[in-house]
This record gives sequence, C-alpha cells and structure tokens, in this order.
Amino acid sequence: MKNIIIFGPPGAGKGTQAKLLAEKFNLFHVSTGEILRKEIESESILGRVAKHYVEKGELVPDDVIMRMIDEIFIEQNKLKKFKGYLFDGFPRTLNQAKELNKMLKHHRQSETVIINIIVSEKEIFKRLLHRAKVEGRGDDTEEIINNRLAIYKKQTIDVLNYYKEIGINIIEINGEDTIENVFKNICKHLKNYFK
Ligand code: AMP
Repeated sequence: MKNIIIFGPPGAGKGTQAKLLAEKFNLFHVSTGEILRKEIESESILGRVAKHYVEKGELVPDDVIMRMIDEIFIEQNKLKKFKGYLFDGFPRTLNQAKELNKMLKHHRQSETVIINIIVSEKEIFKRLLHRAKVEGRGDDTEEIINNRLAIYKKQTIDVLNYYKEIGINIIEINGEDTIENVFKNICKHLKNYFK
C-alpha cells in the first residue's frame, strides 16, 4: 500500500490537490472534514457530536475521528481496488498520527509520504474569506479562521515532528502558485514513489 498524507493550513488548497492526486494515483481519498460536514448535514449521531466543535473551528475529539477512520479501513480492506489512501485533514494531532501508524502497520508493505503545502498567513486569510463568500462554509468567518490557524500551528508542529522522528519522507511544496503548477510540482516529487 502506498499512502499520501496531505498537510497544510486551512485554505492551502489541500482538498483540491487531494482530489487530483487521488485520481491520478488511484488512491482512496479520505477527507475527515468532508465526512464530518456530511454527517452534520444528515444530522446523524456522529454529526450532532461533531457540530459543536466544527462550528467553532475546534478539533473534534480524537476518539470520534479514530472511529471514523476505523470504519473506513474496514470497508476499504474489503474493496482492495485502490493502491493506498490519501489522507486529507488527517491526522491533525499527535495521538491521531500514532494511532494511524499502528493501523497502517497491520498492512504489510505499507509506505507513507507527506506532502506539506506551505502558504503564508496573509494569503490564507485572503483565500478563506473568499471561500466564505463563494461556498458559504460556516467555519470561514474571520474569528473562526483565526482559531483554526492557531490550532493548526500548535497541533501540526507536533505531528510533523513525530513523522520526522519516525523517518517518514516530508516533501515541502510551495502552495502559492496556480492549482496546475502546484499539482505538477507535487507529481514531480512523487514520480519515484509511485514508480
Ligand atoms: P477541514 O475541512 O479539514 O478544514 O476540517 C473542517 C473542520 O472539521 C475542522 O476545523 C475540525 O473542526 C474538523 N476536523 C476535520 N478533520 C479533523 C481531524 N482529523 N481531527 C479533528 N477535527 C477535524
């Protein structure tokens, strides 16, 4: 199994790149944010628990997220038609990263690479406020953006440090370019990985 974890602050273009990469390399796209939004919309039990956190831009508790991931793994193991997973917006905490590592160890020959999309704070604000107008996402207001960015910075440093410690390859990509150029750049770096 060959997996990708796509990292980057809110508004870095993770979702867009994740969809393109999943298609190109035949990976199963797991976006925890998207799953949560759907659950909230359908007012499921999970959705009702998550709503409170997502609306404030806070992280949903690890046990809720890991249960979601567990279910996905069980389903995907049955399908076996993908080369691996593309994780988008996950793992977001050290605990999630460690849990994921344990789960992936059950799969023999499982490899993982991280794509870290770098975008300046100024650019993030510009993009997220624009997205708020276009998509009307409730968690794209200025105050909540600030909160999400602060959480991102605090939590992801731990996650990235953990991956450095265990020797996972972290590829840094400049996210302040066109969608096409960012995608081309990522693909260039992944050429050997998917050979
Ligand atoms: P995203 O679409 O990835 O920006 O996620 C939107 C929101 O969903 C986040 O601000 C969190 O409230 C929640 N969320 C998504 N993924 C996770 C995760 N891995 N851990 C905790 N909360 C998450």
